[in-house]
Amino acid sequence: MSFVELGLSEELLRAVADSGYNDPTPIQRQAIPSVLMGRDIIGVAQTGTGKTASFVLPMIDILAEGRSRARMPRSLILEPTRELAQQVSENFDKYGKYHKLSMALLIGGVSMGDQLATLEKGVDVLIATPGRLMDLFNRGKIMLNQCSLLVIDEADRMLDMGFIPDIEEICTRLPSPRQTLLFSATMPPPIKKLADKFMDSPRLIEVARPASTNTSITQYVVETAPRSKREVLRSLLGDPQVKNAIVFCNRKRDIKELVDSLKRHRFPVSQIHGDMEQSDRIRELDKFKSGEITILVASDVAARGLDIPGVSHVVNYDVPHHAEDYVHRIGRTGRAGRTGIAYTLATPAEAENLAEVEKLIAQTIPRYTGAQAPEAEPVVLAPVDPVLPAEVAAITTQSHEAAEAAAGERPRKRRRGGRNRKGEAGDADTPVIAAAAPAPVARSEAAPRPAPTPREPESRRPEPRAARPVRDPIRDYRGGRRDEGRRDDRRDRDDGDTFIGFGPEGIPAFLTHKATITR
Ligand code: AMP
Repeated sequence: MSFVELGLSEELLRAVADSGYNDPTPIQRQAIPSVLMGRDIIGVAQTGTGKTASFVLPMIDILAEGRSRARMPRSLILEPTRELAQQVSENFDKYGKYHKLSMALLIGGVSMGDQLATLEKGVDVLIATPGRLMDLFNRGKIMLNQCSLLVIDEADRMLDMGFIPDIEEICTRLPSPRQTLLFSATMPPPIKKLADKFMDSPRLIEVARPASTNTSITQYVVETAPRSKREVLRSLLGDPQVKNAIVFCNRKRDIKELVDSLKRHRFPVSQIHGDMEQSDRIRELDKFKSGEITILVASDVAARGLDIPGVSHVVNYDVPHHAEDYVHRIGRTGRAGRTGIAYTLATPAEAENLAEVEKLIAQTIPRYTGAQAPEAEPVVLAPVDPVLPAEVAAITTQSHEAAEAAAGERPRKRRRGGRNRKGEAGDADTPVIAAAAPAPVARSEAAPRPAPTPREPESRRPEPRAARPVRDPIRDYRGGRRDEGRRDDRRDRDDGDTFIGFGPEGIPAFLTHKATITR
């Protein structure tokens, strides 16, 4: 099926063609015609599936008819984070370039003056985070009674962030009937409840990532001792295969310390987390996108759903507390048809969280060993079986079914005929759409270089990291030459990067092979 068959306008088809997209993704194929008909939709889909365009494209055509009025937005898109809101607004710019729709972005951390002025003139699309929207609503700056199209994006994330009461409140302020589109990677019971309460016979669409993207993410667990984490991380990031990487930490306070430590070791690194000003977050993200910095240390909230093409590696500095965050984290790599590698550093204390992750993705993640000869070509470690997003999506499907079973409910049958904004035949008897075909199992081309070593950097790292001698943790641990008066090492000791207390059982196996590497 091509975009032409989806019922989109000429202008939109031109904008899509300008974006270089030839074929709609499974979620776009299934969602766009239904949204154009005016149906409510539940899209069980992760980022990376093309879900944003699946609501932005039909919304543009729907909103092309009609006019906005002062302070009364005609449609509302709720996003859990500022970055996602920003990303969706960029999608409107991209696909709406042949239309004359007005849009306002209401997010915390940016000046309200311009946004209020835009709202005052009337907007077709309002993209907002729930907190800022409620704030303005309560101050009487905005009215929602003309808002007949609502999108709740990343609903499971909204739940994690405690936004569900705000969303319920917002839903009660919107007119009825209206059209509601809800997207979520999983459907835990509170989201199901929200959908039952505020949606009208929604059509359920569940998708895997498009098979055509041939996406694959190779995953490894790197078992380590807590004190060795920074050393292990530096070793992994020092691998020339790492073009760029997002490093996830569980705690915000660890992010700054880790960034400082990596900076001292001359990695081009920055950070992004929820406590930063919006303008700072955007600036740091832009630096990462442009390649000015190649390592971004991030919190889950700030990085959720970010669509940055070409992220070669994801490193989980900690095993996430919530197994589902693992899926979201590693999904930052292996996007848009590329391969990616995800490492998860795991200490014995994190075994339980790791077991939860492996349970969720229904497989054991290979342990990284990385031993090889010095001049060896990239070694494919056995076993290297990438977990494909399609498989991950299958897991979310299971969760959804489990949630439904737990709630003892089946999706409600849609009413006969349904609303049909375009007067087309409805699809009354197909309330549930099956998942798209899983992607073929593909082996990552980007098998990780073994024994990543802090060694001669590539040209993108101009600083003289290479001048530093390769350390041998074993020898260092046994007291051979740990300090030898080197300032850097003294600093390491101060900030916890040291080898002191780096007991033999805590040494990751692959690090013990560094001594054999001469570069
Ligand atoms: P999303 O799931 O909305 O975060 O989109 C993931 C990525 O897929 C984004 O970079 C989109 O620009 C891209 N994309 C969206 N639709 C298509 C399509 N039909 N073909 C190829 N890429 C697409």
